[in-house]
Amino acid sequence: MTPDTETAAPVIDLRGVSKWYGATQVLKGIDFSVARGERVVVCGPSGSGKSTMIRCINRLEEHRDGRIIVNGVELDHSTKNVDLVRRDVGMVFQQFNLFPHLTVLQNLMIAPVKIRKIPKPEAEATARELLARVRIAEHADKYPSQLSGGQQQRVAIARALCMKPKIMLFDEPTSALDPEMVQEVLDVMVSLAREGMTMVCVTHEMGFARTVADRVVFMDAGLIVEEGLPQEFFSNPKHQRTRAFLKQIM
Ligand code: ADP
Ligand code: MG
Repeated sequence: MTPDTETAAPVIDLRGVSKWYGATQVLKGIDFSVARGERVVVCGPSGSGKSTMIRCINRLEEHRDGRIIVNGVELDHSTKNVDLVRRDVGMVFQQFNLFPHLTVLQNLMIAPVKIRKIPKPEAEATARELLARVRIAEHADKYPSQLSGGQQQRVAIARALCMKPKIMLFDEPTSALDPEMVQEVLDVMVSLAREGMTMVCVTHEMGFARTVADRVVFMDAGLIVEEGLPQEFFSNPKHQRTRAFLKQIM
């Protein structure tokens, strides 16, 4: 394989992915791929399967049919493969999911130290560097409950980055925030995007999509209904369901 074809190979590749919860099919044959360094925004109505799709990418949910390949590793029944994929994928949730009984610094250090066996001084140095990057350095010794929602979400992003992921998945990272805190979190995400991180962001922040997305994907009822460049997607949505959705959120 030449370096060129290597770069061109998708870093995330879903082919015909289906997922059921009991008798309900929530993903109906999803084809979705993301190139290295690409930034994709996923939007769509509540219940359309956005969370399920991105949770399948790091095996927080298991798909039933189709194939999911992340960074060349297929998510199948091999737990070794699941571990390999999770090494490369960081995830940020709507509800920050910080450990409440640990300080901010400890939240960032626990996985590198316990899972990666990074020596504590090195893990701490990385953690402090990332806290500075999300502008939380002065709160390192506080507990999550002592921080605002926007600050907690920035800690959650820094915590994911501590594992040096190659891909970052965001599931509505600003939806639980008070409006005045949305921008500080988006700013961190924009800077990450500008540094070339491969990102898949479920978000309805269309300003963010216009600023950094290479592609916008619209899901409805378990299917990708439409996708395109942000300017095309917003100015000339092709599908009736996309138009109806955009009308609601803009
Ligand atoms: P979105 O993120 O687009 O709002 P989800 O992926 O969360 O959509 O949900 C897709 C569908 O799957 C919805 O109908 C939802 O009710 C259902 N669903 C999600 N999680 C579960 C679960 N753990 N058990 C059963 N049904 C679920
Ligand atoms: Mg969701």
